[in-house]
Amino acid sequence: MAVQYVRFFPNRAASKNPLPFGGEGSRSLVEIALWTRGRWRRRSASVRARNHSGKTSDVVLSRAPEILPPRRPRTGALRWANFPTGSAPRRPILKLWTIIGFLAGLLSATAAVAPPRIIIAHRGASGYLPEHTLPAKALAHAMGADYLEQDLVLSKDGIPVVLHDIFIDTVTDVAKQFPERKRADGRFYALDFSVAELKKLQVTERFDQRTGKPVFATRFPLWQGSFQIPTFEEELQFIQGLNRTTGREAGIYPEIKAPSWHREQGQDLSRIVLAVLDRYGYRTKTDKVFLQCFEYPELKRLRVELGYRGRLIQLVADPKASQSGTDFAFLTGRAGLEELAKVADGIGPSLGQVIAGKRDGKFNITDLVKTAHEFKLQVHPYTIRTDALPSGVKSGEELFHACLVEAGADGVFTDQTDRGVAFLRALAANKALPDRPPTSPPQ
Ligand code: CA
Repeated sequence: MAVQYVRFFPNRAASKNPLPFGGEGSRSLVEIALWTRGRWRRRSASVRARNHSGKTSDVVLSRAPEILPPRRPRTGALRWANFPTGSAPRRPILKLWTIIGFLAGLLSATAAVAPPRIIIAHRGASGYLPEHTLPAKALAHAMGADYLEQDLVLSKDGIPVVLHDIFIDTVTDVAKQFPERKRADGRFYALDFSVAELKKLQVTERFDQRTGKPVFATRFPLWQGSFQIPTFEEELQFIQGLNRTTGREAGIYPEIKAPSWHREQGQDLSRIVLAVLDRYGYRTKTDKVFLQCFEYPELKRLRVELGYRGRLIQLVADPKASQSGTDFAFLTGRAGLEELAKVADGIGPSLGQVIAGKRDGKFNITDLVKTAHEFKLQVHPYTIRTDALPSGVKSGEELFHACLVEAGADGVFTDQTDRGVAFLRALAANKALPDRPPTSPPQ
């Protein structure tokens, strides 16, 4: 039997995972159809991706062939690939292995060309539970986040803890428990407290430290429940435990917060964080980790001086924002992106740098994603909040579409993991993601 082409697409009904190659350890049901002797013959296959390159994927064909109506191969929404032609293997077992070998190769090629879009749980499922608490991370994991974010600052005893700011007075009761420990500027700093002291604090939904009012009125009630600040190591153990019990590996997305400020205070945050990442196996570009930072000199230092081999993301803020030694206007231009690509694997711009408003019902997409892609930089904009949409945007889904489809970003930070995951699933069920043009079979 000379097999010429293979048609390959997600099994819409049975797939638990929206994309065929959901990452390490994920299992997807897919359908394939083999073009042989002028007919499509359809089969189901179960695919387990053991790593991102798919090199060791195993494929099990699980259904007897079904002859589809004769239809010549054509290009379109489906994926195509050439299938090695030649004389038919004599024994069925060989035929099966030929198919398995081919599919493993196809997985490898497809995964390398178009990594699936990712949903990054911004500070955990922070739309539903207080940010950066372990329950918020558990919920995001359960909701199907591809990556869980950690913002990292140091405690007085030099231990990285998971907190969005160097301050602790906007998410804890520190002002009540330790009123005398504020600095001259009236703020309370994580760096002035040992981990043992930080553990005594009650964490709550983010509030305005001057008014005491919650930042997001409809989110988790203020001062309700019992939440603590986790250390980075506690969180990694927690996530790796969940990865094991659920069989689904969520990646991590740590951010080095204010590294030059930490150095002014006599602490080298990056060096400490890298030691923890190394201990927990997040070392190279095939490990499920993106390390992010706003300060470009520090990003270069991570790569060059500290020799980090994992993926690095340069966060980019509004050009007017000040970050130590970082010119955001330059970095988001062509020359800046070209320079950045020498050390970074991607950028994390604000949503506004990717989608510059809406006009006559249409989003105005900037060139940033396109230009970044020219330099092989991934783009992960921040942050979609379905409960705090930009003006003129009707729904979170509209924004996910603008960001991940119209702008073509590779992933997005969101406070509502479930909505992002549901969006990608729906997209995968309705049509193939517009990754790259499909390869046309010869006519
Ligand atoms: Ca962050």
